[in-house]
Amino acid sequence: MDQGADETRRSLEAALSKALDFFDRASERPVAAASDLEHLRARLDKPLRAEGLPPERVVSELVEDVAGGILGSSGGRFFGWVIGSALPAALSADWLTSCWDQNAALYACSPAAAVVEEVAGKWLKDLLGLPPEASFAFVSGCQMAHTTCLAAARQALLARRGWDVEERGLYGAPALRVLSSAQRHGSFERAVRLLGLGRSHIVLLPADEGDRLRPEALEQALKSDLSSPTVVLLQAGDIHIGAYDDFETLIPVAHRRQAWVHVDGAFGLWAAASGRHRHLVQGVEEADSWATDGHKWLNVPFDCGYAFVAHPEAHRRAMSHRAAYIAHHEEARDEIDWNPEWSRRARGFPTYAALRQLGRAGLEALIDRCCEHARALVAGIGRLPGAEVLWEPVINQGLVRFLDGAPGARQEDHDRRTEEVIAAILATGEAFFGGSTWRGRRAMRVSVCSWRTTAKDVERAVAAVERALDALGPRGGNA
Ligand SMILES: *Cc1c(COP(=O)(O)O)cnc(C)c1O
Repeated sequence: MDQGADETRRSLEAALSKALDFFDRASERPVAAASDLEHLRARLDKPLRAEGLPPERVVSELVEDVAGGILGSSGGRFFGWVIGSALPAALSADWLTSCWDQNAALYACSPAAAVVEEVAGKWLKDLLGLPPEASFAFVSGCQMAHTTCLAAARQALLARRGWDVEERGLYGAPALRVLSSAQRHGSFERAVRLLGLGRSHIVLLPADEGDRLRPEALEQALKSDLSSPTVVLLQAGDIHIGAYDDFETLIPVAHRRQAWVHVDGAFGLWAAASGRHRHLVQGVEEADSWATDGHKWLNVPFDCGYAFVAHPEAHRRAMSHRAAYIAHHEEARDEIDWNPEWSRRARGFPTYAALRQLGRAGLEALIDRCCEHARALVAGIGRLPGAEVLWEPVINQGLVRFLDGAPGARQEDHDRRTEEVIAAILATGEAFFGGSTWRGRRAMRVSVCSWRTTAKDVERAVAAVERALDALGPRGGNA
């Protein structure tokens, strides 16, 4: 064996053994961070050495030094943000992706990566109920999926007005406007900024009691300005309550006024893969573009989002890049034509593997199971003293809060109590929840999107909340 192969073997073996240990001991480790900033810096901020180290030593020291700073977000009792775990086949394919180290920019750079992406893209459209002729891009996450879709929207809307934005830029172009409900995710606003459309051109419209954009409000806004090229952002699953806009009603309203409809379905679009939840996305296939994630509910490791565009020509015009030294293929799908990156990770492999591991039935079971666990968690927590359910999950997102028992306790006391309880739960190391402000009140978000979460995890998490409440004691009343 040559020196390089030997070093690689020792390094990978060290990594495999550490990785297996990481999973084997996951249930003993705290789910929240156990090391603070100071300790992590003290351990990791080593003098940069003049001489290098053997790779297996680098690996084992890395594992030691990050201890306590790795959240249990890949495990079954992590309910913060919307994160998702990694399916075994997806994780393993992700390792191989690094081993193969392909540049998935072009078919010529990696024929297998190009074909795998082509196939996985087709499967995704099928599972998500999107038009088979839609174009797609595998990007780093939903943030870049928004950016990709919005670049296509900008291209198409301005081209219809005789403006070639790829050539002329936005200087002197008709201003685009963006209509959305206030329930949008901040990543969309960032895409608007990156594309030079400007935050001030976003108009937030009122939502109903279910956080859905009101059709009258949309109609009104569209009618108030019939000349500006317009993007309408709709939501398939918002981060607080998993709200779905009424696509069947709203999309035709937007299309009557020639607006481009973009859907943020970072996790919520996956409802389409479940017979029980598919009704929530009824009509979504009529939109012009869709953004979603692989690294959330599909449980692909991070660095995986998908952009879909119903107008492949606009998508290609916005992204395609040609140069004399790159060898384009006549028939194959060159990723560079659809993606904002040049050199890029072959991120189709983990998605392909995830879909092969799950199959249609496995994906549906994953979606349904997460929703059931979310409901059980919210119900279980809701039965504890002082807990109040703010939102029972319709999909995998729910909200609870904790009331200050003191007589005459005010809103801010309940807000403070909720924060205290969240901190106390994290301190048990048993479960992880995050806080947010919803309709002016602090709340604890309950978000389930891991294949690893079991009924036992739900029990353990509810027990941890109970323990945290016991440890804090009832506030105020008997003080
Ligand atoms: C997570 C999320 C995003 C952003 O996705 P990234 O993959 O983090 O870039 C956008 N919208 C919603 C609703 C999300 O939950």
